[in-house]
This record gives sequence, structure tokens and C-alpha cells, in this order.
Amino acid sequence: MLGKSLVQAAAEFTYEVSKPNKTFIRPPGSADEETFLALCDKCGKCIEACPTGVLDRVKEMNPIVLDTPFMNFENNYCEQCYACIEACPTGVLSKENLERFRYVAKLDKNRCVAFQDVFCQSCYWSCPQMDKAITLIDFNYPEFHSEHCKGCGKCVHACPTIPKSITLVKVRNENT
Ligand code: SF4
Ligand code: SF4
Ligand code: SF4
Repeated sequence: MLGKSLVQAAAEFTYEVSKPNKTFIRPPGSADEETFLALCDKCGKCIEACPTGVLDRVKEMNPIVLDTPFMNFENNYCEQCYACIEACPTGVLSKENLERFRYVAKLDKNRCVAFQDVFCQSCYWSCPQMDKAITLIDFNYPEFHSEHCKGCGKCVHACPTIPKSITLVKVRNENT
């Protein structure tokens, strides 16, 4: 017992002194980050099962997050097939969590080139919820409406800025 608590304390200490400096967008069906990190065994089965290749391994040299899966929208977007949930042996990805949490797209207008008066429209044309989740003001300036967003990340994948001007944020569904 003493050994285990020392290992845990060492892991927590390592995490505290080398916290990752960015937030990772975890696979669909994940709960909060703390629960995810506690339960994910880094087996990579979700990544192997994903047909689009959007799932990737974290490569940061932080031992807590190294090799954990995240949605890398540089690669692709999520088809919401949930093969990752089916493949996950630990239950850290679950259909129950899909009921509790969802992802919605959020725009950083300070990065978006449309707000520097560059013609773009990339996110708008990529969105399966066009004119609902993303509308255009004056044919150029995107506005995001989270109540209609499906959390697919197509807009993030399509965004040409580096770094991306759009991210997905996890929100808790009402009444859960
Ligand atoms: S739901 Fe399907 S497309 Fe989306 S991350 Fe999971 S396996 Fe990949
Ligand atoms: S399948 Fe589940 S336990 Fe394995 S890496 Fe993916 S989320 Fe973690
Ligand atoms: S995440 Fe998908 S549904 Fe939501 S705004 Fe982006 S493209 Fe549209």
C-alpha cells in the first residue's frame, strides 16, 4: 500500500511540475479530463478503430498525457461513428458520457482571418449544419451558434490559420 501511494504521489508531483500547456480534445464519449487520465490505459485501440484518422497520440513529453488519445483536427474530422467507444476496453469512453457531454465549436475572432477582412468562408462551407451552427454576417464574418453544433470538427479541420481559429470545447448537457 505504501509503495502504491508513493508511486501515485510521484506521478501527481510529476504532473504538477510539468502540466501540459495545452488542452487536448479527447475522443467522443470521454468524461472530464481528470477521470479520463485516471482510467485511460493508453492502449491505442480507439486510435486503431477510428476510420477517419482524426484520433492521434499525444506526443508531449509529460508522462501523464504522453500517448493518450486526442482528436487531431490537423489530420481530419470526426464522423461520429463511435467505433472508438466500441473499441475502448476500459470504459473510459462510453455512450453514457455522450448523453452527459458534447463538444461545441468555439471561434477565436482574434485569430480568424475574416476579421482581418480576408475572404475565407472555409468553416462555413465545411459545416454540415450550414446556416444553423455557422452563419455569415455580410458574406464573410462567421458567427457560431452552439445550440446547433454537432461537434464534428469539420470547421476546425477546414480552418486555414496556424494555429487554428476554432476549437472544440466540452460542455455538459442540461438535465444530466
Ligand atoms: S466517433 Fe468514429 S470518427 Fe469520431 S473519433 Fe471515434 S472512431 Fe473516429
Ligand atoms: S481505447 Fe480507451 S483505454 Fe485505450 S487508449 Fe483509447 S480511450 Fe484509452
Ligand atoms: S463542429 Fe461541425 S457542426 Fe459544429 S460548427 Fe463545426 S462543422 Fe459545424
